[in-house]
Amino acid sequence: MANTRYIFVTGGVTSSLGKGIISASLAKLLQAGGHNVTIQKLDPYLNIDPGTLNPYEHGECYVTNDGAETDLDLGHYERFLNIPTSQANNITTGRIYQNVINKERRGDFLGKTVQVIPHITDEIKRCVKLLGTKHKFDIVITEIGGTVGDIESLPYIEAVRQLKWEMPGRVLVIHLTLVPYLSATGELKTKPTQHSVKMLLEAGVQPDILVLRAEKRITNDIKKKVALFCNVEIDSVIESRDVSTIYEVPILMHEEKLDEIVLRKLKIQAKQKPQLKPWQDFLKKLKNPKKQVNIGLVGKYVELADAYKSIIESFIHAGSVNECKVNVTLIHSETLTESVMLEKLSKLNGIVVAPGFGHRGIDGKILAVKYARENNIPFLGICLGMQCAVIEFARNVLGFTDAHSTEMSRTTEHPVIDLMEEQKDITEKGGTMRLGAYPCNLIKGTKAQKAYQKSSIQERHRHRYEFNNAYLQDFQKAGMIVSGINPDMNLVEIVEIPTHKWFVGVQFHPEYRSTVESPHPLFVEFIKAALSK
Ligand code: GLN
Repeated sequence: MANTRYIFVTGGVTSSLGKGIISASLAKLLQAGGHNVTIQKLDPYLNIDPGTLNPYEHGECYVTNDGAETDLDLGHYERFLNIPTSQANNITTGRIYQNVINKERRGDFLGKTVQVIPHITDEIKRCVKLLGTKHKFDIVITEIGGTVGDIESLPYIEAVRQLKWEMPGRVLVIHLTLVPYLSATGELKTKPTQHSVKMLLEAGVQPDILVLRAEKRITNDIKKKVALFCNVEIDSVIESRDVSTIYEVPILMHEEKLDEIVLRKLKIQAKQKPQLKPWQDFLKKLKNPKKQVNIGLVGKYVELADAYKSIIESFIHAGSVNECKVNVTLIHSETLTESVMLEKLSKLNGIVVAPGFGHRGIDGKILAVKYARENNIPFLGICLGMQCAVIEFARNVLGFTDAHSTEMSRTTEHPVIDLMEEQKDITEKGGTMRLGAYPCNLIKGTKAQKAYQKSSIQERHRHRYEFNNAYLQDFQKAGMIVSGINPDMNLVEIVEIPTHKWFVGVQFHPEYRSTVESPHPLFVEFIKAALSK
């Protein structure tokens, strides 16, 4: 699109103010007005992608259809916009440098000295503009990770300055800051905002819109003061107060006229009156649940709920469909032993065993599967959770007491979960798993097929190990059946126990595909099963 508009969202004062949600909310509003919008995240760290980061460091790693391992904010973008993102939507400093250094090695710079400016900034600009030129979006919203003033985000801010200068009228900067409330004096304080805008100005960037995060109402006087000190029009100082759910933010931003101001400043018009009815219907059901259901999520990263972001959001979507509140309790798999099992699991209406890597906490996960299977409690196993279901069944039903995944035990006599052939020679960690969307054929009459109402699906993967087909007959005969198969590689993608109320294990990650406007059928059916007496 020759006329693509670019909106940058920067953050000031502190991190964790919700730039991702503000970006996603604005995108939703512009999309509801008929524009073709996408959101991109620029992450100022040196990892090539977050795939190799411990979830404790950076929360969940979100996987796109094209197999990119990305920042969890991309999950929000997809959940809000209901359109897929791709590798182009998440760029890190590591990747920018890698691209530039690869070009240097190829001799593309023809002997020039390669420098942060212009080479790194040019590469940043190329990655931003690609979404307009190649992917043809009308509006590209780029969220810049980190906080203004960080050394590592300087090249990004410089790239924004250049783009603003190169494309007058087509680039907008929204700066999100915190206005802290001092309870001792009962005042909201604007000084940190003034300072962070000053820092942007020092870098040559004048923000066009300020979004102020605050616990209390921002009065008109405060808006006036901020407008005056930060050279921003008074109606472009917008309040973002705390709300009970992130899904309310688009509505709140619409009330604050954020979309209207953005369109006016970019000199474009909405193509239609914003269509927010499906969103509002979702919110209404979400906020007025008729019943409740208690789900236990068994995993080892429980100290940080962000590690399971997409699963938790999928339950919010599935709860709204079922008009029920889904209470998700995180259960630490390392502390789940026989002696506390009843206390921790007996009040649950459904059990999920989470994805994960490595041996830590595996016994607790297997125990949770056993409890769900034996007590007819609805069960959903995701990736490692599905593998645990297979191991548990092998041990306790098939009688292979040492059955395991070769990820945890290389010497097991019953490797019911094993490394794929093509994974066996891989030594590098980054980007080498089975990643991204793969097709899966569903077997008629199974719970999975009933949930999807389709015969063939596409789901996203992120793993190295697989169900070992040498054991397929044993499992099927004993009552754990395969309900989804990858047609090209004949890999087991879904297992279930037909005699159980609802027991499904999936090798893929359904949580990456649940959105507000299309909640994931497996989560919806799982909650339905958990609700039924
Ligand atoms: N560790 C398992 C594997 O690599 C499962 C991965 C996951 O749960 N995402 O196969």
